[in-house]
Amino acid sequence: MTVHYKRAAAGNAASADFRGAGRIEPPLGDLNARAQRVAAIAAAHAEAVDRDGRFPEEAMAAARAERLMGVLIPKVLGGEGASLSEAAQVCYALGGACASTAMIYAMHQIKMACVVRHRGAGAWLESFLRRAAEGQMLLASSTTEGMGGGDVRSSESPVERMGSRIRLERAASVMSYGAQADAVVTTARRAADAAASDQVLVVFERADYTLERTFDWQTLGMRGTCSAGFILRAQGVADQVMATPYAEIHNQTMTPTAHLLWSSAWAGVAASAVERARLFIRRAARSTAGSPPPGAPYFVRASGSLRQLRALVDISLQRFEGLQFDKEALQSVDYQTEVTLLKVEASELAVSTVMSALRACGLSGYRTDGEASVARQLRDVLSAPLMINNERILADIGLAAVLAPTPTLLRETRQATSKTNGFQS
Ligand SMILES: Cc1cc2nc3c(=O)[nH]c(=O)nc-3n(C[C@H](O)[C@H](O)[C@H](O)COP(=O)(O)OP(=O)(O)OC[C@H]3O[C@@H](n4cnc5c(N)ncnc54)[C@H](O)[C@@H]3O)c2cc1C
Repeated sequence: MTVHYKRAAAGNAASADFRGAGRIEPPLGDLNARAQRVAAIAAAHAEAVDRDGRFPEEAMAAARAERLMGVLIPKVLGGEGASLSEAAQVCYALGGACASTAMIYAMHQIKMACVVRHRGAGAWLESFLRRAAEGQMLLASSTTEGMGGGDVRSSESPVERMGSRIRLERAASVMSYGAQADAVVTTARRAADAAASDQVLVVFERADYTLERTFDWQTLGMRGTCSAGFILRAQGVADQVMATPYAEIHNQTMTPTAHLLWSSAWAGVAASAVERARLFIRRAARSTAGSPPPGAPYFVRASGSLRQLRALVDISLQRFEGLQFDKEALQSVDYQTEVTLLKVEASELAVSTVMSALRACGLSGYRTDGEASVARQLRDVLSAPLMINNERILADIGLAAVLAPTPTLLRETRQATSKTNGFQS
């Protein structure tokens, strides 16, 4: 098939950030086509990645070759200025092929979104984004520290300052693909005399740090994320510390993008289990002369809960894109409760969808081999409620949830949705 590219019209400096004046514009839908090509490669290696608990190097090489790593970076910095919805669609497509690949891509884009949106006027961060786009860098995330579990809003290790230079040593007890990443974006205490919740976000490139392995990653699922533990020892310049306090980055970008992109990846995993169940039920119906096999009602449940999951993620993406430039609205109790609960609801819907697919396929689904096996999908998706534990999230929301009045209208009154890239701050 011949693909026709159109040249974008040249505009003024501001619009150039959005439209990439003078650059060759890929046709609409191109990003999804590229994601589907990467998904095909991820699917071909998913079993081996899971079996050997190894990094999905073939899929990630393909993602780089298709230039998927820098899509959220503004065009003026060498990226594509894609929207979060577009990145979410990539996560969904990859999730249907290999959950680890999808989660790696999601975590990378969450960190990218934080840097893009909060880069401020600093020259170092801007130049980092250019290098990230050019080199299709992979960004790892370090928030979990020591035995602190999913307490993202608390850091032990401080950033130490020596003139214009900084130093950080932290027990990064769970850091996915730490050994394979080109850069780490990490939370840290602002200074030795700062409170644990007075955090900053810092970007370190591979040449800035060493990693000493402390824990292996031998898990039930998500085995290809290689989320081992490390001691991270890093040095750099003061400009590598993002100027915006992490508390703001957390509410405005980190939590919304994490919950949206994780949910998209889990929805992809759930969709692949549903598709396996659909084909199984069709085959079974053929052999019983069209009468529904006993597992059919479970398939109906699986496809119904997948529908709910996709609708939830879709409406949540629209909501974020409608509010993304409104810092106050993003930080409101109402929005924070909504986007935080998205993670709880999406993770539980994803698990119940895969469970229903398993019940639809019966023993064939429970097997670890064969076309109807959903064993890998089930093991992978079981990580969803644990990845920042749902109980912790519900306990943290606590009484904040009672501050928002119960809605009197059936339908939400939504703000207009912005389809332009929200990462040009
Ligand atoms: C696939 C995967 C990839 C990951 N990748 C990374 C990564 O790249 N970087 C990174 O930094 N981290 C990563 N993590 C870790 C993640 O961010 C969390 O730190 C981790 O999931 C929390 O683990 P935990 O359950 O041991 O800890 P906790 O959150 O402390 O939970 C431990 C137990 O205590 C309970 N609990 C905790 N708080 C409360 C509360 N307030 N009320 C009631 N019960 C509570 C929980 O329900 C749970 O049963 C990853 C996790 C997964 C699953």
